[in-house]
Amino acid sequence: MSVDRRETDNALDPALIARFAALVGPAGAITDPEAMAPHLVEWRDRYRGRTPLVLKPGTVEEVSAILRLAQETRTPIVPQGGNTGLVGGQIPHETGGEIVLSLTRLDRIRSVDGETGTMIAEAGVTLAGVQEAAEAAGRLFPLSLASEGTCQIGGNIATNAGGIAALAHGTARNLVLGLEVVLADGRIWDGLRLLKKDNTGYDLKQLFIGSEGTLGVITAAALRLAPRPAERATAFAGLASVRDVARLFSMAEREIGHALTSFEIMGRICLDFVLRHGADTRDPLAEPHAWYVLLEISGLKADGRARSLAEDLLTRAMEEGLVRDGVLAGSLAQAQALWRLRELVSEVQKPEGGSIKCDVSVPVSRIPEFIARAGEAVARLLPGARPVPFGHFGDGNIHYNISQPEGGDREAFLERWEEIAGAVHEIVLDLGGSISAEHGIGRMKRHLMPAIKSPVELDLMRRIKAALDAEGILNPGKLL
Ligand code: FAD
Ligand code: ZN
Repeated sequence: MSVDRRETDNALDPALIARFAALVGPAGAITDPEAMAPHLVEWRDRYRGRTPLVLKPGTVEEVSAILRLAQETRTPIVPQGGNTGLVGGQIPHETGGEIVLSLTRLDRIRSVDGETGTMIAEAGVTLAGVQEAAEAAGRLFPLSLASEGTCQIGGNIATNAGGIAALAHGTARNLVLGLEVVLADGRIWDGLRLLKKDNTGYDLKQLFIGSEGTLGVITAAALRLAPRPAERATAFAGLASVRDVARLFSMAEREIGHALTSFEIMGRICLDFVLRHGADTRDPLAEPHAWYVLLEISGLKADGRARSLAEDLLTRAMEEGLVRDGVLAGSLAQAQALWRLRELVSEVQKPEGGSIKCDVSVPVSRIPEFIARAGEAVARLLPGARPVPFGHFGDGNIHYNISQPEGGDREAFLERWEEIAGAVHEIVLDLGGSISAEHGIGRMKRHLMPAIKSPVELDLMRRIKAALDAEGILNPGKLL
C-alpha cells in the first residue's frame, strides 16, 4: 500500500530547508511567519496552509536548481503566482511539509513586437503588466479578469483562465504561442516559439496549460497579441427573464459577429449587492429589472460603427420587447462605471455572509433551463438561501454562487456546501455541462473527478502525471 506523504510528513528537516534557501540567497528565501502569511491564505479564506519556507527565485536557473533538489529529496513543491486562484491549488496543505515556490520575482517582459503582435513575458508579470506592455506596443492582450492587477500570466496559463473577453478571443490557451517550463527533474524546456503554425509532433505546451502546477513550473510564455481596438461601445440593458437574455445574445451574435467582444449577465440581486456595498455606485437604469446584460462591441477603426451597431441592437431588442430599458455609455468614464458594476460582483458577496460557489458551464441554449432548475433545487434544500447568478453568458459560463439566508448562521450554511453545490452540479451534468468552467479543480473539486471523468480519461491523466513527475513532487493532492 502506498503511503500518502502529505499525511505523514509534518515537518521538513531544518538542514534541508537551509539547502533550499541557499539556492536562492537571502532575497529569495522567506521564513518569517508574518512575511509568509499572505502566501498561505487565499482570497475566499477557505484554505489556510502551512509551510516552513517560501522561495522566490530570481532566475529560471534558480527554479531549475530548486526542482532538482526537490526531486532528489522528494520534497513537495507548491507553485504559486498571484494567489488569486479560487480552488485552493496554490495553497500548501496544513501539514507544513510542502515548500511554496512563488514566481513573483520572475517579472521581466523579455520582448514585445508590436509589428507581428507577439510578446515574451516571464511568469511573474501581472496580467495588468502584460496588458500595459501590449498597449505600449500598440496592441491588445485581450485576457481580462477582475483579479488582473494581482494575478500573474504564469498563473493565468496554469489555470487556463477565461474572463470577460473569452467570447471573442478565447481562454488563455488561445493566446499562448509557446512556453518555457522547468520540469520536475529540474530540466528547462525552452518551448518559446513565436509560431502560429507548427505541426511537428505532440503540442507539448498544451499539456502545461491548465495543469494547475502539477506537471511543471511555467517560467515564461510567448504570447499572441491582438490588434488594439480604436473604439468600443459599452451597453447595459435590463431584461425580464433569462430567456430574453438568451434571445438577445443570439440576436447580437447574428448581427454583430466577431465585433461582439463581451456579453456578461447578472441577476438583480448582484446589482442590489453592488449598490449596497460598492462605493460610488448607482443604478444606471430608472427601474429595477430581473436581469442585466453588459455587452461590449469593439471596432478596429474609429468610425463610429461600434456605437451604431450597439444602438441598432438596443433599438431592435426594445422594439421586440426583449430589452426593457438600456443605456449606452457616452464616454470612457461612463463605460468604466458600467464595467465596475460587473467587476464588483465577486467582492460584494463577502459582506452578505457565507457563500457557496459553483463555477459552471452549460450549452448557451440551456442556460435558462439551468437557472430555473438550480433555483428550484436550492429553494427546496434551503428556503431563504439566495442564488447570486452572474458570469460570462456568451461562453455558457455562469458563476452560480449562493449567499446564505439573511440573518442565518454562516458556519451552519457553509457546512452544507457539498450538499447544495452537489445538487447544482447534478443539474449541470444532466444538461451536458461542466462543474468547473474556468477556475479549475485544485483542491476544492478534486474529489469530484471520478464522477466527471471516465476511467479511461483518468487513467490517461495519471499516466501523463507519472511521465512528467515520477516522484509526485509537483503540487501533490491537487487536481488528480
Ligand atoms: P495562483 O492563484 O497563484 O495559482 C493558481 C494555480 O496555478 C495553482 O494551482 C498554482 O499552483 C498554479 N500556478 C501558478 N503559477 C504557476 C506557474 N508559474 N507555473 C505552474 N503553475 C502555476 N478566473 C477566471 O478564469 N476568470 C475570471 O473571470 C476570474 N475572475 C476572478 C475574479 C476575482 C475577484 C478573483 C479573486 C479571481 C478570479 N479568477 C478568475 C480566478 C483567478 O484569478 C485565476 O484563476 C488566475 O488565472 C490565477 O492566477 P494567479 O497568478 O493568481 O495563480
Ligand atoms: Zn469568471
